[in-house]
Parts: sequence; C-alpha cells; structure tokens
Amino acid sequence: MPEGPSIVILREEIARFKRKKVIKAIGNSKIDLKRLENKTIRDIKSWGKHLLICFDGFFIRIHLLMFGTYRINERKTTSLRLGLIFKNDELNFYTCAVLLTEGQPDDTYDWSADVMNDAWDSKKAIKKLKKQPGELVCDALLDQDIFAGVGNIIKNEILFITHIHPESKLGNIPLAKLKELVDEAVSYSFQFLKWKKAFVLRKHWLAHTKKTCPRCNIPLHKAYPGTRKRRSFFCNNCQVKY
Ligand SMILES: [Zn+2]
Repeated sequence: MPEGPSIVILREEIARFKRKKVIKAIGNSKIDLKRLENKTIRDIKSWGKHLLICFDGFFIRIHLLMFGTYRINERKTTSLRLGLIFKNDELNFYTCAVLLTEGQPDDTYDWSADVMNDAWDSKKAIKKLKKQPGELVCDALLDQDIFAGVGNIIKNEILFITHIHPESKLGNIPLAKLKELVDEAVSYSFQFLKWKKAFVLRKHWLAHTKKTCPRCNIPLHKAYPGTRKRRSFFCNNCQVKY
C-alpha cells in the first residue's frame, strides 16, 4: 500500500495540473463526473494516504488502497477508475477509491495528524496515545487519526529503530520512549521520501521483509499481531516488549 511519502511524491508530480481546466472526466468511478467538467483545479493537497484535488466548492479524494496506480499522459489496459482530460494532458487513476466531498479539505481534515504536514503536532499524538493504554503499539501506529501517512513499512522500521516490540501495550511504554517513537515516525517518513525518490528505499530496510536481525544476527520473527493483523517483522531479543 502506498504510504504517506509516496502520496507526497504523487502530489508533487501532478502539481503542474494546478490551475488547469478539466475538459472531460472519464472512468468507472461512481462520482458525478460531469461535475468536474469545465472546472479548474484550484489546489492539490495530501493528507496522509489521501490525495486531494480541490475545485471551487468541492474536492476529490483519491485513496490508492493496496494496489492503486496512476499514469500521466499514458493509459493502462486495466479499467480506468478516474481520468481527467486537460487541453494537452491527461491524468489517470486505477484501482483506487474516489470520493467527491462538498466544501474544502480544511473543513474535514486535521492537518496536525499528518506526519508529513508542517502543522504536525507531536504533543497531540502523545495525548491520543495516552488515551488508549490497552492498545498495542503496532495497531496505534497504523491509526490514521493519530499517524496519518504511516503505513506498514514505516511501522515495522520505526519499531525496530526504537527497539520497541510491536506487541507492547501503549500504557506500559515509558513516556520518553513514546516520544522517541513519535519523533521517529516523522523523521523516518521524510527519510523514506528521500530514499524513495532516489529509488533506494528497499535497500535501507532494516526489519521489513528481512530474515535476520542486523543488530543481533539471529532470525527475525514474522507475525500478524494486534487487531489489524498486518505483517510485522521484529526481533524478540533487542526489541523490548513493554
Ligand atoms: Zn535483534
């Protein structure tokens, strides 16, 4: 699943469509496509894993889900979910969820929960974590209301980097450690962005999809803990279960 940094790359890549007029909207999306025609894109934003294409009075939210893709001035053979045709260009989205919302993103989105937004607020994140002491840290990191943009790769890597076992209960993790984790969620996301842009993301993974702990040189464990049951890679020796 594309994580926050990948959506930032997408947002930057299509920034050139700002102020461009949509001549035709096509695809099998259930939204009212006619509504987009002859409308000018006012802004392109992102919140976590959501791409937001803003028009006067409404915006389109695109979520790439697990296998979503996009093409600029190119088409795939798979069925098109949403295609925006401009005078000289086209922008096409596949296998994604598309939603049309009235108003502007500022009305609905809490920018302070997006780890890659300038408005990100670590203190608020800590407050939210303290409110659910019984929750496992591996579930909390994927909670988009707390860490919008964090996905499974970032989760696995930052738990490894901070020596925290994915099955730790939030209430048992010392505050200083929790702060370290929250800060790492932000700094790792920006690091992820740099590596992804340079096509070297995978080679920097320490735990995600790995078989051996690079610190202990013993086998890593692979499991599906928590209520979200997402693939976790961790070391029982150097990651502390609080
Ligand atoms: Zn280890």
